[in-house]
Amino acid sequence: MSEKNYSYWLKQSEQLAFARQAYINGQYCDALSGETMEVISPRDGKVLTSIASCDEADIDLAVKAARGAFEAGAWSNQSPKQRKKVLLKFAQLIEQHSDELAVTESLDMGMTISDSSTMNLPGSVECVSWYAELVDKLYDEIAPTHPNSVTRIHRVPLGVVAAIVPWNYPLMIACWKLAPALAAGNSVVLKPSEQSSLTALRIAALATEAGIPDGVFNVVPGYGHTAGKALGLHMDVDALAFTGSTRVGGLYMQYAGQSNLKRVSLECGGKTPNIVLADAPDLDKAADGIVIGAFSNQGQICNAGSRLIVESSIKDALMVKVLERVASLRQGDPLDPETEIGPLVDASHLNNVAQYIDLGKEQGARLVTGGTKAEPFPDKLTGNCYLEPTIFTEVSAEMAIAKEEIFGPVLSVITVDDLDQAIEVANSTVYGLGAAIWTSNLLKMEKAAKAIQAGVIWVNSHDHGDISSPVGGFKQSGFGRDKSAHAFDKYTEFKAVWINLV
Ligand code: NAD
Repeated sequence: MSEKNYSYWLKQSEQLAFARQAYINGQYCDALSGETMEVISPRDGKVLTSIASCDEADIDLAVKAARGAFEAGAWSNQSPKQRKKVLLKFAQLIEQHSDELAVTESLDMGMTISDSSTMNLPGSVECVSWYAELVDKLYDEIAPTHPNSVTRIHRVPLGVVAAIVPWNYPLMIACWKLAPALAAGNSVVLKPSEQSSLTALRIAALATEAGIPDGVFNVVPGYGHTAGKALGLHMDVDALAFTGSTRVGGLYMQYAGQSNLKRVSLECGGKTPNIVLADAPDLDKAADGIVIGAFSNQGQICNAGSRLIVESSIKDALMVKVLERVASLRQGDPLDPETEIGPLVDASHLNNVAQYIDLGKEQGARLVTGGTKAEPFPDKLTGNCYLEPTIFTEVSAEMAIAKEEIFGPVLSVITVDDLDQAIEVANSTVYGLGAAIWTSNLLKMEKAAKAIQAGVIWVNSHDHGDISSPVGGFKQSGFGRDKSAHAFDKYTEFKAVWINLV
């Protein structure tokens, strides 16, 4: 087996043929308007290709195809065992195309190839197989009613599910939604982010190859305010499964309210605290978790540990370790497997992040590293999207960089006196997605786990996960859960059948 080194991935990148059209009713097609949008790689600022830019008319076609397929029953009425077989084949095909998909993702939105090939792709494959394997092991229920009757409680699919996803882990987050939705028997219309549609478009054909009937899985690329809004308002969509910013999540709730009260689930933004107490068992390990947590995928992770809340007595010792580790991070070409930090998704997002850095300075935080654009390849890769990992100390809980989601490589360090203050600061944002605490004291760990409002609490680790463990938010980080068997709740409804026996 050849080693997958830098030249291997560069060669892969030269051999790509991108899927550029929408996928509706089992076929690739242009947008009805003929409109396209350019795909620019943040790696080097070059145009990769252009893809269909769909709007309301294309969404309507896709929803009609999805509804037609649902009513026809070739998928929705199929036995769970048969759906499992097809979804396992789908997972296998994604796996067979892993290298192509991993490089596509890196070029499209800048994820490092090491993340893309060892996390994003295996995570996507595992997700599809996991729901395939689960679906023929779920039993319905019998309610404990009077013996004169039998009441069966069935889980039934909803019909047409719209999945709207962001650009930061495009394929994996799409799989978190499409896998349970399809396994449950729904038809799906997936709208990828306009900033990262290529892998979603590619896997659409793999779904057909695996045996998913035409119309059951559709992918419609387009802008949020056109294609996304049209899905949100469509009268024949039964559920909206959204991942993205809190602002846009709110819009989807409005769309549902203005149309047919379709069910909404939201996975939104975060401002994850990493709390390090003086009795943390291993400061080196904590420093590692902090740096990886804050800067992986260039900080563009909903659960990025963007706030370090540290007990004052160990702050200096911890910061020495954190800064050493940051200095050793390799920033560069996302296609080089040695690269740990690649480019941000695009130049406009970099400017948003840079504005937060300016705000941090203006509001009195102390910039201790980074803060400027990085030029890892001034002569080769000039995408204008590389930013140095940035750390502010002397941050107070009221500052914008402590409260708002930056979604970039910026870590805000807040010093506290004790656990109670740490919990107060941890809960002082509108978000509640994840939180980590580093301590060797069981009682403190339990107290924090109970008091912090977040969907996931990590103890002596950060952002660990497994497909069997649910993710999702409290407060304005959203509601509903991705991953785990609980995801089925978003894509099924209970139906009770009461049979009188007398
Ligand atoms: P975004 O909200 O801008 O976009 C998400 C999706 O919504 C995209 O498909 C986009 O096209 C669509 N959209 C945008 N404007 C719209 C509009 N006016 N009407 C309808 N649809 C619209 O988010 P993003 O920038 O793509 O992603 C970053 C955000 O996603 C961050 O806030 C991050 O925390 C969040 N996120 C959350 C999770 C989670 O599991 N909670 C995971 C990943 C990312």
